Amino acid sequence: MSTPEQRRRYKAHWAEYARVYAERQRLEKQADPKRAAAYFIDHGVWPHRPQLPPLPVFPADLRGLVCGGKSRRTGNPCQSRALHTNGRCKWHGGLSTGPKTAKGKAKSAQNFKLMKVDKSLLNNTNLQDKIL
Ligand SMILES: [Zn+2]
Repeated sequence: MSTPEQRRRYKAHWAEYARVYAERQRLEKQADPKRAAAYFIDHGVWPHRPQLPPLPVFPADLRGLVCGGKSRRTGNPCQSRALHTNGRCKWHGGLSTGPKTAKGKAKSAQNFKLMKVDKSLLNNTNLQDKIL
């Protein structure tokens, strides 16, 4: 059994987890031995090791949360408990909404251009004669 409120809290938990995890990675990177040695050379003292923030504990009442997506075959709510961070299973995670970053959009546009070139190669009868 899972309610929209539980799913909202589930997503919020994993968003918070990702935020804290990234912060820990950033702090651990600062504790890199080479950086510490550089700090020692510059300042004459060793830098303090960073205190890492604790990762958020998974809420006990959200254990066993089910996907709840609608089955296309039976119409019943999906009972899968293997969920992604979006609160849905591998079959009900939703479609991709496309690239978000400028880099991703550029790569997507490049792939689209390559696809158009490939189709034009297939329509080119001279090339088909050479291939076959
Ligand atoms: Zn599902």
